[in-house]
Amino acid sequence: MRIILLGAPGAGKGTQAESIKKKYPIAHISTGDILRANVKAGTELGKCAKEYMDAGKLVPDELIIKMVGARLAEADCKEGFMLDGFPRTTAQAEALKAILAQLGMKLDAVANLVIDDETVVSRLVSRRVCKKCGEIYNTVMKPCSTGSVCEKCGGEVIQRDDDKESVIRNRLSVFHEQTAPLIDYYTKEGVLVNVDSSGGKDAVLKILEQMRG
Ligand code: ADP
Ligand code: ZN
Repeated sequence: MRIILLGAPGAGKGTQAESIKKKYPIAHISTGDILRANVKAGTELGKCAKEYMDAGKLVPDELIIKMVGARLAEADCKEGFMLDGFPRTTAQAEALKAILAQLGMKLDAVANLVIDDETVVSRLVSRRVCKKCGEIYNTVMKPCSTGSVCEKCGGEVIQRDDDKESVIRNRLSVFHEQTAPLIDYYTKEGVLVNVDSSGGKDAVLKILEQMRG
């Protein structure tokens, strides 16, 4: 199975990915996670990407396309993959098309998680994340019972630099300008399915199962 999770920041792409992975053990490719790992490790890519990420801007297409191209060529993607946070621009979608054609692969579905902007803002300002294991908390919906110490691993629970309200608003306008056109793009390709992001953590999984019959 080869799918794309599309949707605004905070639509819950990561949450849907976790539930899909439990059923289908396919490669989960989150460009945000790969970039954050590079920033943390201080690689060249990480150094280039950090300032864009902190400002809520997109990292330049060339860097992202190269990164994803390399990742999709890895062995674990042969059985299927789930792209989370990529593509985010028409140029990335075109590049993906070329990469998949070269690998002889075809997309099964693009799940578009539908959510409104104010819901995104209120969700993301209250989001917290463990620096060490990546566990996600929410000060309103799912507070960490042990304060700023992760329940799972003891790591430090923090607010991401780009989860500050002004940066969230920036990320939303970037989404509407640069990423939302992909909804049309994949509708034309005949692979888009709209999913209500308030439909729970298994919403996309359920639709995939229906599609598989
Ligand atoms: P969210 O979906 O919550 O905005 P991500 O973790 O997917 O967050 O991405 C965090 C940041 O990483 C983005 O704001 C952007 O700077 C960068 N990024 C991630 N994926 C891409 C991409 N496909 N193209 C360009 N920049 C990206
Ligand atoms: Zn943790």
